[in-house]
Amino acid sequence: MRNIPITIGAMVLLAACGVSTQQEVQMGQQEAQQVSAQLPMVQDAVIENYVNALGQRIASRTSRADLQWQFQVVNSDMVNAFALPGGFIYINRGVLERASNMSEVAGVVGHEIEHVVRRHSVKQMENAQGANVGVGILCALTGACQSGAAQAAINIGGTAVFAKFSRTDEIQADEGGFNNVMRAGISPRGMYTFFQKLLAEEQSSGGGGATAGWFADHPGTQDRLADIQRMLSQVPASELNGLQSNDSGFATMKARLARLGPAPKVQGQ
Ligand SMILES: [Zn+2]
Repeated sequence: MRNIPITIGAMVLLAACGVSTQQEVQMGQQEAQQVSAQLPMVQDAVIENYVNALGQRIASRTSRADLQWQFQVVNSDMVNAFALPGGFIYINRGVLERASNMSEVAGVVGHEIEHVVRRHSVKQMENAQGANVGVGILCALTGACQSGAAQAAINIGGTAVFAKFSRTDEIQADEGGFNNVMRAGISPRGMYTFFQKLLAEEQSSGGGGATAGWFADHPGTQDRLADIQRMLSQVPASELNGLQSNDSGFATMKARLARLGPAPKVQGQ
C-alpha cells in the first residue's frame, strides 16, 4: 500500500461511488498514520491499555464489532476526543485528567465510537463533494502541533476525511453512545456528569480555556445535556444502579497519569 494521502480527486471519485467498509478502513489507516506522525501520544502502557481495554469492551457490543478498533491517548492537556473512519479513536490526556471515574471516560469513548458506527465522517465526505472539509484540522482540534512545519505537513497531507460533525450528528453520537455504554454494563450517568463538568469549566473560563476545542467540535452541549438527562430519566433507577461506574484500573491509570511529565507545549499558548 502506498503511503500517500488520498487526493481531493480520489475523494470526489469515492464520494461519487459510495465508500465501502474496506475503503473507509483504508482512509482511516492513512489518517491514523498522519496522526501518529504529527501528534504526541502518551507512551505509558498502563494508561494505553486501560483506555484500549475500555474502548474494546464498548466497541465489541456495537453493530460494528468486526472493525479493528484502536484506542489511543493523545498527550495534550486540551479536552478533546476524535474518531477517524474505520475505528481509530483518540482521547486526549485532558479528558482522562478531568474524569472522576471510569464511566465518565466511557461516556466520551462511547460517543466517539458511535460516530464510527454511524459512519458520520464517511457520510459527510459523500455529501461534501470532496472539498474543504477537514484539511489541517488536526492542529486546531488538539492544539498539539509542535511546529509550523508540522502544521504545514498536515495541511499538505490533509486527506479531508476528518471533519466537524453537525449538531444532529452530535445528538446521534450521544444517544448511540449512551446505549453503547449501557450495553457494555457501564452506567451512562458518567456521560452526563462529564459533559456537565466540561460545560461548567467552559463557562468559568469564558470560552478560551482547555475545553474550547471540545465545544468547537461538539456543538450544542447545553441542549445535548438536556437530551442525555431525558434518556437517563427513561432508564429505571434499579437498572441504572446495577451498572458499573468505576473499576480498580481507573485509580491505577490516574496515578500513572499524575506521574507523567507535562504535556508538550502547545503553540500559541
Ligand atoms: Zn462528537
